[in-house]
Amino acid sequence: MTIAHARASPAAMVRSFPLPVPMRRALDLAAAAATAGEVPVGAVVTRHGTIVAEAGNAMRGQADPTAHAEMVAIRDAAYRLGTPRLDECELWVSLEPCAMCASAISLARIARLTFAAEDPKGGGVLHGPRIFTQPTCHHRPEVLSGIGESEASEQLRHFFADRRP
Ligand code: ZN
Repeated sequence: MTIAHARASPAAMVRSFPLPVPMRRALDLAAAAATAGEVPVGAVVTRHGTIVAEAGNAMRGQADPTAHAEMVAIRDAAYRLGTPRLDECELWVSLEPCAMCASAISLARIARLTFAAEDPKGGGVLHGPRIFTQPTCHHRPEVLSGIGESEASEQLRHFFADRRP
């Protein structure tokens, strides 16, 4: 094989590059949520690289409008770790968190937020109220976006396309 043949295009390299394990898990939780009739969003909390809590959207299943994947995962992480301060934790989500979840992330003092797809309609981090930029926001996590974006966007597109009459 020549060197030219061995080279992958930059796009192919991005596609084949494995996702971080927590984001891979968040996308799988989102897919499971869709199967259960929930909007496909998954969230994973890690502490020092280990998953401590995870959830998919559960608004319908729990009949709770606040049961967004992030809220459920943050509550479970705090419960399991026995503290409301998750300052040694990271949150991985398949979709940009809404204003409610962004506020909860700040209140929990989560160190880093990584999300896959941006949400121009309902997001509260890079869109809408941009919670972490507000003067009333007293803890701003490090924010990374776009990790697993294409797969997360595809999940949401499929879910809403299937629902259209
Ligand atoms: Zn939310």
